[in-house]
Amino acid sequence: MLDRIDIIQGNIAAFEADAVLNAANKSLLGGGGVDGAIHYAAGPELLEECRTLGGCETGEAKITGGYNLPAKYVIHTPGPIWKGGDRNEDALLAASYRNCLALAAEHGIKTIAFPSISTGAYAFPVDRAAKIALTTVRDVLAAGSSVERVTFVCYTRADLAAYRKAFSALVESR
Ligand code: ADP
Repeated sequence: MLDRIDIIQGNIAAFEADAVLNAANKSLLGGGGVDGAIHYAAGPELLEECRTLGGCETGEAKITGGYNLPAKYVIHTPGPIWKGGDRNEDALLAASYRNCLALAAEHGIKTIAFPSISTGAYAFPVDRAAKIALTTVRDVLAAGSSVERVTFVCYTRADLAAYRKAFSALVESR
């Protein structure tokens, strides 16, 4: 299943896929980081649609159109805010990835790009987040998801290195 996962460096708002993931907050009404980049590139209609959704709980996911993005859909998930690691953060982060992929499959999405959910403003340690992200995605694909390709779009070189390291560890543990 690892052969269906790519890791690249870039801006997720510019990525061409059926869907891109927005590391949103619970209001779904915009923010900084990935959220800011996606709303800026998608245009104001995305915010209009988000206003109709009534927010989203941590670890859950909601879908909208992509508007001016290259992607047809945006899937929004608020990841957990890091509070030291004993507040269910790991399980909530895994839930974000799982629920996004479930929603993607329901909508016939074949290609999807994820940012590093929770590791910016929400301060989740990136090495730990990368391991959870990759193992969760691998397990969902292995369980028979109709999603064909998952790309992790890392913004910084440090994030890219963390995701590559976590990926190598998974390859070696096979
Ligand atoms: P969160 O609130 O879930 O922590 P952020 O958007 O603050 O979300 O950050 C999540 C991760 O996304 C961080 O590692 C950050 O460096 C990265 N990031 C920020 N902007 C972009 C972008 N345009 N494309 C991809 N990743 C981005």
